[in-house]
Amino acid sequence: MNGISGSTTIVTGGGSGIGREAALRFAEEGANVVVADVDTDGAAETADLVREAGGEATVTDTDVSDPNDVEAMVDTAVETYGGLDYAFNNAGIEGESEPAGEHPLDNWERVIDVNLKGVFLCMRYELPAMLESGGGSIVNTSSIAGIVGFPNLSPYVASKHGVIGLTKNAALEYSGEGVRVNAISPGVIETPMVQRSQEDDPEQMEQVKAATPIGRLGAPDEIGDAAVWLCSEDASFVTGETLVIDGGYVAQ
Ligand code: NAP
Repeated sequence: MNGISGSTTIVTGGGSGIGREAALRFAEEGANVVVADVDTDGAAETADLVREAGGEATVTDTDVSDPNDVEAMVDTAVETYGGLDYAFNNAGIEGESEPAGEHPLDNWERVIDVNLKGVFLCMRYELPAMLESGGGSIVNTSSIAGIVGFPNLSPYVASKHGVIGLTKNAALEYSGEGVRVNAISPGVIETPMVQRSQEDDPEQMEQVKAATPIGRLGAPDEIGDAAVWLCSEDASFVTGETLVIDGGYVAQ
């Protein structure tokens, strides 16, 4: 896709699921990829897959809720590849499932820290690096839980609604300076995260699948493709937007 070849992209949560497929898609299009994750074994596997396919990748041990780690992640991209063009801020956790009146306070803090503060911190350090590179594009991973509620998942739902707000704000602040900022809201995608949810609450997962008009779960590469497209020049007039990719779930 236009503009991706020879660029440098960070993918957080790149060691698994959606992030891994996105890293592979960016690399296929010719990008150098920084695969950032707390799961460094998973990130190293992704980097190996990229190299086996003829691409270029570097791994960083990054907890997106830690400003020092995030700053180091961006520094690694700039020092290794000479600048930063794109970022897919995708790392996230589902957390525990409890109603609001009984919700564990530490779970609230952890989910907000990773899913919401994590996206803010990534943009906080990526934006100056992109301006330094003459512009760029950021895609943040929200969720259909950023559009509608899901019982028992207060911090997850609040964090994903927040990601859409952060995305709009950064788009207003930086689109005039050559950095477009968008979000993707996936529906239920077959990844290790969803496999865990299926084990925890098989009934709810079956209900979600049955309520998906397309009649199946999504595949991680269907999200990866959209992340690459939103970053590419093919999406040059798209900013502040949330692309819902959910088999029709929230259209109902
Ligand atoms: P996944 O398979 O669990 O992959 C997420 C990756 O992020 C894992 O490698 C995980 O490491 C890592 N991670 C967790 N906390 C991190 C942190 N603090 N810093 C850096 N990396 C961290 O999940 P996925 O399904 O691909 O989800 C990716 C994103 O899509 C998430 O933001 C999720 O909320 C969102 N999403 C997913 C779905 C879906 O149906 N799968 C739907 C809507 C939105 P560990 O495994 O060690 O925790």
